[in-house]
Amino acid sequence: MNIVALAGGVGGAKLADGLARLNPPPALTVIVNTGDDFNLFGLHISPDLDTVCYNLAGMEQRNTGWGRADEGWDVYQEIQKLGGPDWFRLGDKDLATHLERTRRLGSGEPLSKITADFCRVWEIDPAVLPMSDDPVPTIVLTDQGELAFQDYFVKLSCEPAVTGFRFQGVENSQPTPGILQAIQEADLIVICPSNPWVSIEPILAVPGIRSALEEKLVLAISPIIAGEAVKGPAAKMYLEMGIIPSATAVAKHYGNLLDGFIIDKQDEGLMKVIINRETHPLKVFCADTWMKTREDRVRLAGEVLDFGQQIIEEV
Ligand code: GDP
Repeated sequence: MNIVALAGGVGGAKLADGLARLNPPPALTVIVNTGDDFNLFGLHISPDLDTVCYNLAGMEQRNTGWGRADEGWDVYQEIQKLGGPDWFRLGDKDLATHLERTRRLGSGEPLSKITADFCRVWEIDPAVLPMSDDPVPTIVLTDQGELAFQDYFVKLSCEPAVTGFRFQGVENSQPTPGILQAIQEADLIVICPSNPWVSIEPILAVPGIRSALEEKLVLAISPIIAGEAVKGPAAKMYLEMGIIPSATAVAKHYGNLLDGFIIDKQDEGLMKVIINRETHPLKVFCADTWMKTREDRVRLAGEVLDFGQQIIEEV
């Protein structure tokens, strides 16, 4: 099967990794959010892209899901001693990625080409495509004013109350070369269990991507389980935007884009409500969606593809 997955950071990376480890693996393209990208020490940092790549290469830090395993912190500690910014933890190995990426971007190469070359070195089989080679920084609108995404997310630990989001410059951005073709050729689109507001929305906002997806069979996995996010501010964002966080809210969020939706077993009680929603009917599948181990990722990925296959056959 030919799959295109849409992913943010940790939640997206885990499912993308599960899909890539299936036996046999599907032909997989992962489109990754770059709205979180930012600059620190003059370095271009792409947190979601790196999280996806490190997971696909099997070299992620297991307890956090982001950063590198067996990481060294010499540079970080020296920066701390010097009184430099230490709110964003950059490990020594991780820094090599940012240094080399920044050097190549500075010489005019696009992010997608650099990412593809890094993936080759890290022996990553799936195609990993940043959503755009153009910068589209996410701005979080909050009760403390407009905040750059990482200032909100890491520096302020998601504490400000959110009132909205802006994807700066998105109207003039273009999808990375290859994205629209990959979508066109896909049998199934999988929206990973990533934050709908700040991981998936930025991808859908890049001109051309949403309309290309509307032509395809699209499945999503809820990042909200029993009213809470597994990690991060997704549930808090729903509340602050005046919506009760639930798998139902996520299904509503993606609206008519979805043909199928996978919710956690803990939310089985919501199944009927989601199936019978007012917009076009949705096929819903219940699974154990909390990926705590590598085996969980592969098992869930297998269930996602089986459910996708079932929907393909019914259409
Ligand atoms: P971030 O950029 O690292 O925040 O990454 P994502 O947007 O990809 O992931 C964050 C979202 O993924 C949160 O809303 C989590 O609730 C969700 N998430 C993380 N791990 C899991 C998991 O194992 N299962 C499910 N269903 N959701 C998850």
